Formats: sequence, structure tokens, C-alpha cells
Amino acid sequence: MPDHSVATGFLVGHDFAQLLSALAGQGYRCIGPTVRDGALVYDTLGGVEDLPTGVQISQGPGRFQVEFNQGTRLFDWANGPQALKPLLFTPREILWEVRRGADGELLFSQQDPEPVPTAVIGVRACDLAALRLQDRHFIEADVPDVGYTARRRRLFLVAVNCTRPADTCFCASTGDGPAATRGYDLVLDELDDGFIASAGSKRGNEVLALLPLQPVSAEQRQSAAEATEGAVAMQHRQLPGPNLRDLLFTNLDHPRWEAVAARCLSCGNCTSVCPTCFCYRELDQPALDRESARHYREWDSCFTQGHSYIHGFVVRPDTRLRYRQWLTHKLGGWHDQYGRSGCVGCGRCISWCPVGIDITEEVGAIAAAST
Ligand code: SF4
Ligand code: SF4
Repeated sequence: MPDHSVATGFLVGHDFAQLLSALAGQGYRCIGPTVRDGALVYDTLGGVEDLPTGVQISQGPGRFQVEFNQGTRLFDWANGPQALKPLLFTPREILWEVRRGADGELLFSQQDPEPVPTAVIGVRACDLAALRLQDRHFIEADVPDVGYTARRRRLFLVAVNCTRPADTCFCASTGDGPAATRGYDLVLDELDDGFIASAGSKRGNEVLALLPLQPVSAEQRQSAAEATEGAVAMQHRQLPGPNLRDLLFTNLDHPRWEAVAARCLSCGNCTSVCPTCFCYRELDQPALDRESARHYREWDSCFTQGHSYIHGFVVRPDTRLRYRQWLTHKLGGWHDQYGRSGCVGCGRCISWCPVGIDITEEVGAIAAAST
């Protein structure tokens, strides 16, 4: 097997458009980060001009702000609210339709559209780690998810190593960033005058071969390494350990759960933006003509009343139990299910919580009281 990770070259900044052209030529729709409605969201790229040149993101608990720094870099920002999750595990989709036939029999048809091959530009290391977890859940399950698997197979991932984490990021403490180490087709290190581009797959190699690459100098490699080290040093939040299973399960009656519940709105924002959360519900929607119905799947959350409804009663009727469920599962139960924590340190749940609840602070408070 060839080692695709060794294919590397330097792409001069003004040639970046050629990467988009090469991907389009291979049949990919390119999507990437764009500034919209005061946030950074993934959208179809018409060209390099759609990428967020000179944009930085300032984030804090309950705060996300787009700022312009007059620079020329395309990837000088920390993540927006979306991860790769909505592209694969879509917020709402039709699983099947049923129609009454001429003799009254029920005719089922599965919704199985052919997904558009999609290249995502600017993927961060934390989101690659989250993708690995989502793959475990949706593809490596006993019964793989058909829609997710089809979309995943047609995804081309262009990672960009993070050099400017937000105040809310803590991927270094979970071991999931800021540099991408696997799971990508291409990875870029952005420097002032261009990009060190490296392939991580055969498809990545094929795209690299279409680009006007130059040899990478020792100075360029040194700059990229220093930028990664700087991104680690910028992160000051952390979880109290890699495996919090025992800590959380031995503190189920800790008063901190009550304290956080007094602030939490049970809105579910944290689970929507979390790149690893995978809970959903299914529902049927009959057509008004009573001849057909659609069966939907849509995102659900630990924080909804219906999510813990079991035949006649709600298992988790209050916010204390719902918040506790979210954290004990994400940081504890996942170790039993998937062999690691369900948190990749992206910090989204901190930025997008309307009341600024900070997962690192909440777990830290329980850990501090237990030592
Ligand atoms: S729990 Fe929060 S910080 Fe961890 S992966 Fe989910 S959104 Fe990111
Ligand atoms: S922790 Fe924040 S984002 Fe999550 S449900 Fe509570 S208020 Fe909403």
C-alpha cells in the first residue's frame, strides 16, 4: 500500500482557486465556511471570494462574534455553529413513504436519493474526530444507516490545521486537535503566502497531482509547526481528565446538577451544535388525502420532554435530570459504548448556550468537590 500521507507540496496563495477547480473537475460540489447572518456557516462556494478572507471569530460563553482583521488569510477563524454533522446526519429527512394501492394494500417506498459528491473545505481537527464517532454510530452499527453511509462515501474532506482557536476551544485537552492527524483527504497548513498541502488518501493524492505545487521548504514546515504549537498554547479551558466516567457516575446526587438546572433553559442548543450528538426521533406525517404518509427522522435532544417518554411517563421530567443525562452520557457512558469520551473539545456548546453554561466549568466544579 502506498503511503499517501507523504504527498506534500506548497500551494501559493493566489493558486488556491485551482484547488476548488480541481475538486469541481473531479465532480465535487464544494462547500466551505461563509459569513452569513453574523455567523460562519457552511454553504456552496462559487469561488474563493466566498471564503471568509480576513475574518476572525471572537467567542465566549453565550457569545459568538464575527470580526474582520484586514488580513488575507482564508482560514484564520475558529469553528462556526455547524460541524460536519448536518451534512451526514441531516436535521430532518424522510426515511420512507407509504401509499395505499388500488386494492387497499400498503405500498412502501424508501427514500434513497443519490447524494451529490461533496468536498468540504476548511474542516477542523475536532470535527474530524467527531466524524469518526458518528461513523462508529451510524456506519459500524449492526445495521448501518443507509442515508448516512451513502452521504459519507461521497464526502471529500479538506482539513485546515487550526492556528487561531477561540476562547471556548479545548480540543488540545481532549487530544482531538488543533492539528488534523487523520481522517482527511487533504490537509492544509495556511501560511502568510500560501498553503502546505498534504494528502491523506488516494483521492487526495489525485487532487494534489492537479495542482501547481512547489517544494516545501524547511522554513515553511517550521512556521506550520510553530503555528500549531501556538494554537495549543492559546487554549486555557480543559476537562478534568480524559475519562470522567467514574467521577460522574459516583456524583449523580451532587448539588451542582441542581445549580446548573437553575440556569439551564432546556433549549437543546448545546445538543444541536454538538458534532457528536446523535439522538433523533421518528414520526409519521399523514397526507391530507388520507392515501399516503411520510415517515420522518429528525434530531432530538436529551433536553426535550418527549426524548425520555416511555409508555405512559417521562423518565426525566426536569432539567436537572436532563442536563445530568447529557453530561453523564457524553463524558461517561460513551466510554462503555465507544471506548472514549463523546466530547472532542470544539467548545460549541459553550458559545451557543444562550445563558453561557460552560461544560468545562460544570464538570470542573464536580471534580473539585470530589478531590
Ligand atoms: S460537548 Fe460541547 S465541546 Fe464537547 S464536542 Fe459537544 S459541543 Fe463540542
Ligand atoms: S445547557 Fe445551555 S444550550 Fe444546553 S439546554 Fe441548557 S440553556 Fe440550552
